[in-house]
Amino acid sequence: MISANLEWVKSRIAEAASKAGSPPETIRLVAVSKTVSVEKIIEAHEAGAELFGENRVQEALEKIERLGQDGPNWHFIGHLQKNKVNQLLGRFDLIHSVDSAALAQVINEKSLARNLITPVLIQVNVSGEASKFGMAPNELESALRALSKLVAVRVEGLMTIPPYAPDPEKSRNVFARLRELRDQMDELGMEGICLKELSMGMSNDFAVAIEEGATLVRVGSAIFGDRPPG
Ligand SMILES: *Cc1c(COP(=O)(O)O)cnc(C)c1O
Repeated sequence: MISANLEWVKSRIAEAASKAGSPPETIRLVAVSKTVSVEKIIEAHEAGAELFGENRVQEALEKIERLGQDGPNWHFIGHLQKNKVNQLLGRFDLIHSVDSAALAQVINEKSLARNLITPVLIQVNVSGEASKFGMAPNELESALRALSKLVAVRVEGLMTIPPYAPDPEKSRNVFARLRELRDQMDELGMEGICLKELSMGMSNDFAVAIEEGATLVRVGSAIFGDRPPG
């Protein structure tokens, strides 16, 4: 079941990539395993998922511990509280969800203290939805200027979550806007800032996100099945 789902998702990724004119290997699949058991994560890993996304620090650390050093790679995709930063550093290859310059400052301080450089994406609230975390598009330039001075934080791109819409076409303009913002910010040529990654697209809209330039898609229920509510 998981392996068939994974094959289906990968083939849709390849199809969307070819529509967008991008080589399929330039798009990475983050299998979102929040609430999913370690057994199912192992099943997905054996079926070829290489990269898993978690949104709660405690839950993620327990899973990472159980899967061990030779396990898959992990990305953190949830809202991060400053007091959890220390626990998470060094355990994840990428944090997708840095949503304030103040959080980036904390990541920088703690990373410096441990001799780490922490790769991050900046979460942008493109649609301005009140319930969503993320920087406003008009805050992005000044935040990136501040972040470019942090030597232990490496900004690799942008991430967004569009408002929930059953019709994926409704999210297309949000994805296109994130790509435009990325292009505008990259053109400013800020030192140390190279926004190569665009993390956008989930189970119901990843194909549209890829057509609009996604390099990381975060797909949960299409691989693992529906999550229990809440
Ligand atoms: C849960 C989650 C996803 C995956 O959602 P699905 O609809 O199950 O694919 C992607 N991104 C974030 C930030 C999430 O919290």
